[in-house]
Amino acid sequence: MINSQWSKILLKISGESLMGNDAFGINNDVVKSFANEINDVVKTGIQICIVVGGGNIYRGISSIKSGMDRTTGDYMGMLATVMNSLAIQNALEKISVETRVQSALPISAVCEPYIRRRAKRHMEKGRVVIFAAGTGNPYFTTDTAAALRASEMNCDALIKATLVDGVYSADPKIDSNAKKYDKLSYLDVLSKDLKVMDASAISLARENNIPIVVCSIVKDKNLSKVLSGQGSYTIISN
Ligand code: UDP
Repeated sequence: MINSQWSKILLKISGESLMGNDAFGINNDVVKSFANEINDVVKTGIQICIVVGGGNIYRGISSIKSGMDRTTGDYMGMLATVMNSLAIQNALEKISVETRVQSALPISAVCEPYIRRRAKRHMEKGRVVIFAAGTGNPYFTTDTAAALRASEMNCDALIKATLVDGVYSADPKIDSNAKKYDKLSYLDVLSKDLKVMDASAISLARENNIPIVVCSIVKDKNLSKVLSGQGSYTIISN
């Protein structure tokens, strides 16, 4: 049972978290376990939409090293997020969760184009909407896309699922003295240059007063716990 203070959320899943212990690509067991976590939330009537990253397949920035144009690389990165979105849609449909993928880059044979009003209607009907292709523009990230879609969909919270259970003063994998923050303000994140999300995503969430909850959904049932105010997470708000 989830007793959430939020009724409409956006879940940002990084591409990296879809790899599991693999070095590249989509790990099916991880996708299945994320689908189960999402299903637990859907069953309680909380409206949920998702933005997926693409770093497990391609990041635009790596195109520069190979002599490719950054913009071409970024479009490739956006296409990677479409692949991840389809994988998540497939896993959700396998457990009978209704979903729609909407892409910021129209790919009409595969999914719907992004249409805000339509996406809202899907969510009202209890469907999980997966926003693919980030913002549709090069030089942006899927974190900014997450803050943008959360604002457009009037979400109460942006849940950023990462590989760690919150925001730390340093990388906890490297520094054993790293301290976990329970609460932060948007300005703390910007002024301390904490690498949570890029500055444009933080600023957009701040302007629209959308709290950002940083947590891990790798651990079983953690998403449900976090939405109930339990479990381990960091909340960034005013
Ligand atoms: N990307 C982009 N515009 C966007 C969103 C993403 O150009 O609005 C590209 C960019 O090249 C990025 C890649 O898609 O590196 C994958 O997204 P991101 O790095 O945000 O994924 P994550 O880090 O969450 O896996």
